[in-house]
Amino acid sequence: RPLTRPDLAALPPYVPGRSPADLARELGIPAAIKLASNEVPYGPLPGVPEAITAAMTEVNRYPDAAVIALRDELAQRYEVTPDRIVTGCGSVGLLDLLCKSTCQPGDEIVYSWRSFEAYPLVVLGAGARSVQVPNKLPATASAGGSTSAGHGHDLDAMLAAITPATRLVLVCNPNNPTGTALHRAELTRFLDAVPDDVLVVLDEAYREFITDEEVPDGLVEFADRPNVVVLRTMSKAWGLAGLRCGWLVASPEVANTLRTVLTPFATNMLAQAAAIAALHAADEMRRRVDLVLAERDRLLPQLRALVPGTPASQANFFWLPVADPIGFGKQCESHGVIVRPFPEGVRVTIGTPEENDAFLAAARGTTG
Ligand code: PMP
Repeated sequence: RPLTRPDLAALPPYVPGRSPADLARELGIPAAIKLASNEVPYGPLPGVPEAITAAMTEVNRYPDAAVIALRDELAQRYEVTPDRIVTGCGSVGLLDLLCKSTCQPGDEIVYSWRSFEAYPLVVLGAGARSVQVPNKLPATASAGGSTSAGHGHDLDAMLAAITPATRLVLVCNPNNPTGTALHRAELTRFLDAVPDDVLVVLDEAYREFITDEEVPDGLVEFADRPNVVVLRTMSKAWGLAGLRCGWLVASPEVANTLRTVLTPFATNMLAQAAAIAALHAADEMRRRVDLVLAERDRLLPQLRALVPGTPASQANFFWLPVADPIGFGKQCESHGVIVRPFPEGVRVTIGTPEENDAFLAAARGTTG
């Protein structure tokens, strides 16, 4: 008998985006620009390094297992009670927790595909079965200014895919990697129709980048439903990807159950301290997000000229439905820019204006 589960051997592992170190080694490019993992391009928010340094003096001790100070800070800022908040080792750690807390072997988890690549892995890790519902195809070749016209979740098909074996539904809004976002009316209709005994996770990793007012804020509008969990992260707009801190809001009952199976001390001491400091720098976070949004507006017409059918994005990345994603990715790399190719297209993160110009030049096949 194999020592580990045979079904896991069949699965390709999660491969993160290539790093500048990879390009230095393989192509001799010393300082590649990484636009592959949807991070913000600026350093930590003010106050964060100091908070980490102060916390460093205590790392011989375990962190606060109950994460009291950070949960209180989040509770105040987002106007929910702390008993409904669970923090974890990245929101991906919380996705893992949600799968194993809802599913027994053979149960089903429904989600749109293509979406966040970790979904199939956390589903399988829980011994559950992935039910992938294909994204909608674009309504027309030029998906127009609408964020929901194409590439997004097919909510009707997702509803139809729910069976008595379904325990969890994952809704990524805005969707990674397409950047498209669901609107209030369609999401409300969907949540009204999902059976009460199926938990729905609204994965809002990119919430801070949304500008379309038709896109609902899950925390404000849906989190009070007993079968809804809203998932957020400190990794993107808040600039703490390297420290691994995600959080969720659920009903007090669901949150309690999740805490019983949560890996003890899942949110480390430096992450707790840094997350509090980052939340105190919310104005600077907003300023930096606004820089990314200005770039998003500047890039869209240029990207559409390069790749017709590029959908408008509500996140800090664009989805480029190119014919040869691998070839496109290689071309960018040869010009020192790392993007993320998928079988159906390429995802590129919005960086600084200079980084974005380097990407445009690379995409056009010139050194610009
Ligand atoms: N959800 C989505 C949709 C994401 O794109 C990501 C990161 N790429 C995550 C969750 C996980 O982020 P983290 O674990 O860093 O919080």
